[in-house]
Amino acid sequence: ITILAIESSCDETSAAIISDGKVLNNIIATQSVHEKYGGVVPELASRAHQQHLIPVIHEAIASSGIAKEELSAIAFTRGPGLMGSLMVGVSFAKAMAFALDIPLIDINHMQAHILAHFIEDPKPKFPFICLTVSGGHTQLVLVKDYLDMEVIGETTDDAVGEAFDKTAKLMGLPYPGGPLIDKYAKEGNPKAFEFPVSDMPGLNFSFSGIKTAVLYFLRDRLKENPQFIEENLADIAASVQYTLIKMLMQKLKKAANQYKIKEIAIAGGVSANSGLRDELASLAQKHHWNVYVPKFEYCTDNAAMIAMAAHYKYLKGEFVGLDVVPEARMKIG
Ligand code: ATP
Ligand code: MG
Ligand code: FE
Repeated sequence: ITILAIESSCDETSAAIISDGKVLNNIIATQSVHEKYGGVVPELASRAHQQHLIPVIHEAIASSGIAKEELSAIAFTRGPGLMGSLMVGVSFAKAMAFALDIPLIDINHMQAHILAHFIEDPKPKFPFICLTVSGGHTQLVLVKDYLDMEVIGETTDDAVGEAFDKTAKLMGLPYPGGPLIDKYAKEGNPKAFEFPVSDMPGLNFSFSGIKTAVLYFLRDRLKENPQFIEENLADIAASVQYTLIKMLMQKLKKAANQYKIKEIAIAGGVSANSGLRDELASLAQKHHWNVYVPKFEYCTDNAAMIAMAAHYKYLKGEFVGLDVVPEARMKIG
């Protein structure tokens, strides 16, 4: 079984080839056009996907040493994501599957972020809990099997990656600010400033309050001292990061207790955060958890995870027809 997988849900154009469950490559073209706008501009993202998609697919096929006639299926991200971005990948996948007369496999992007754990060892054992933290999502997912997942908690407003990026923007940092907060936080005191920790009912999250809290906090401090941000950058970054991680860990602990599960995984772009990784490692010790964190290239958007998900769907014969359409708000399950 050899599958070509395409990812185009947001601002990364990616293609990968998987052969008998082994990922052969993972070609990613990152779009730089969005940097100067401080966020992803949907219209520009679609256009950039149009430009990048064919070269990226060519490279994936060429570097795999597999002829396109040998492909067993074409897989693509159906959603969730930006409609215009998804449309580019979906249309291309349909055309290619039609031309080669092979099956088409639709993949849920959030499910794929979780299945990124099966690209390399060590792999989590079922059932496990996955905390998916990205630019567009924050979810606690009970993973019962490769294709059997249940969302047990999620954000009711902003995603945690969005909270990182928006507070970074308030601090005058460029987009995406998450990695920069991580970097400055390393030299700062996480208890220097206190921001409110929201506590939603059950296993849900809320991250919109911290953005407003940071906005007013900075506005007041800047009135007294126009250099406040420059002089306290590390402490502000460390305090914001500490608060966001605290909110995530509070619900992760609750979920692990409630479901009596010690297999814990994280996925999505924010799982690159070093503070989050440190905190998880110490919780793992304390609660005897087995914690799984994918390699960085498989945390952010990539086609290798789409390929991995496609492999399991192929084994179950889960294909779609050429009349399939993208779903911007596609749900797990
Ligand atoms: P989704 O998967 O929900 O559609 P997305 O694909 O845009 O959203 P990812 O590419 O998985 O999200 O992750 C990007 C997010 O991860 C951004 O918000 C970015 O700031 C954040 N991020 C990346 N590295 C770090 C880091 N070291 N610390 C904190 N945040 C980070
Ligand atoms: Mg992204
Ligand atoms: Fe993603």
